[in-house]
Amino acid sequence: MPPDTAAEPAYSRVMLKISGEALMGGLGYGLHPPTVERIAREVKTVHEMGVEICMVIGGGNIFRGLQGSAQGMERTTADYMGMLATVMNALALADAMDKQGLTARVMSAIGIEQVVEPYVRPKALQYLEEGKVVVFAAGTGNPFFTTDTAAALRGAEIGAEVVLKATKVDGVYTADPMKDPSATRYAKLTFDEAMSRNLGILDATAFALCRDQKLPIRVFSIVKHGALKRVVMGEDEGTLVYA
Ligand code: UDP
Repeated sequence: MPPDTAAEPAYSRVMLKISGEALMGGLGYGLHPPTVERIAREVKTVHEMGVEICMVIGGGNIFRGLQGSAQGMERTTADYMGMLATVMNALALADAMDKQGLTARVMSAIGIEQVVEPYVRPKALQYLEEGKVVVFAAGTGNPFFTTDTAAALRGAEIGAEVVLKATKVDGVYTADPMKDPSATRYAKLTFDEAMSRNLGILDATAFALCRDQKLPIRVFSIVKHGALKRVVMGEDEGTLVYA
């Protein structure tokens, strides 16, 4: 049978959360340019399908607040460093997307006007409507939060239909698939099921926000080539958590 070329994307506006670690490739720290470029290409493929894309990038490949505070730093200072790390990642990804022919705009929750523009919701909405990819940097702008929460928050604010959580594992499993070969992937779960099974899909604040706002989450692997497109096409990829 010929492929169904008339298939439409399942979403028109998505929030894509990419962890900092996903940008490291096989490195132990920092950015792996070929990986950043591949992610930019995958985003372009989805963008060409007419989907509006906004993104939140983590900073764990460079600095995490908890790591700094464990080494004796004041926690809020360490968290601000973590947020600044996300700005570096956002700039790298925006640059890679620009090179792919997309137009990316980085908007920061912390004022660094000489480098990136501040987050202003109507402006972000305008950019999305103009077909630009918007990258939200510096998390929520507040210490003690994570970029998962930034993704849930901005996703809800901007009217995304889903939060796509890109990780290194292709979904949520009944047990750790690295340790237990009998572990199976959940294709779908309700928020209540995910909570009662204590599956730790997003951090607690982000999860609660998505649940309250009935904003579905799809966990998938960004390491798996083409998975982002399959997710956006509504195929059985990763794990969907829904209200
Ligand atoms: N961070 C923060 N507030 C936020 C988002 C992030 O303080 O709203 C800090 C926090 O220190 C965190 C770091 O930025 O450890 C990097 O973000 P995250 O750990 O979420 O990155 P990821 O694990 O997704 O790479």
